[in-house]
Amino acid sequence: MRLLIMGRPGAGKGTQAVNIREYYNIPHISTGDMFRAAIKNQTKLGVLAKSYMDQGLLVPDEVTIGIVNERLQEEDCKNGFLLDGFPRNLDQAKALDKFLKEHNIALDAVLDINVAPEILIDRMVGRRVCKTCGATFHVKFNKPKVEGVCDNCGSPLIQRNDDTYETAHNRLKVYDDNTAPLLAYYSEQNLLKTVNGDQDFAKVFADIKEVLSK
Ligand code: ADP
Ligand code: ADP
Ligand code: ZN
Repeated sequence: MRLLIMGRPGAGKGTQAVNIREYYNIPHISTGDMFRAAIKNQTKLGVLAKSYMDQGLLVPDEVTIGIVNERLQEEDCKNGFLLDGFPRNLDQAKALDKFLKEHNIALDAVLDINVAPEILIDRMVGRRVCKTCGATFHVKFNKPKVEGVCDNCGSPLIQRNDDTYETAHNRLKVYDDNTAPLLAYYSEQNLLKTVNGDQDFAKVFADIKEVLSK
């Protein structure tokens, strides 16, 4: 299964991607996670990405498209993948189409987790992520068993640099301006499957399985 997962920042892409990865046994490729790993390792890519991410801006296409193309050629992507956070604008979508065509493969579906912008600021500002394993929690909606500690690995939970009120607003604007047009792009290709992301975590995943089975 070759899938994209789309949705506004904070819609629940990463959360549902973990379910999808396990259920369909495909690798979860998140450009945001790749950039955050590069920042942690203080690579050249990390330094560049950070200067954009901290402002809620998109990292330039040349770099982003390059790392995705490389990642998709790794062995674990042979039988499918779930791309999360890419493409985020029309040029990235066209670059992905070109890559798929060159490799004689096609997407099976594009999932859109739809959540109204009003509730997303709270989701982003209350998000907490594990420093070590990347697991995602929320201070109100998905509390860890022990406050500030990861359920999976016991490491401290931290707040992402870009999960502040101001940057969250910028990211929603960047989504409207750059990413939202992709919904029409994939709808025209008959790939778009929309689920309501303003529901209980388990219900969102149940709906995802249902739309993907059709
Ligand atoms: P969210 O899930 O909250 O939307 P992500 O982890 O997907 O956040 O992305 C965090 C940041 O990483 C983005 O705001 C952007 O700066 C950068 N980023 C991630 N994916 C891309 C991409 N495809 N193109 C450009 N920048 C990206
Ligand atoms: P994205 O990858 O789209 O930016 P996340 O999966 O990281 O979004 O979710 C953003 C925040 O909202 C996290 O703190 C997560 O625990 C929380 N969250 C995700 N799905 C739901 C849901 N269905 N209801 C309430 N909160 C949710
Ligand atoms: Zn952890």
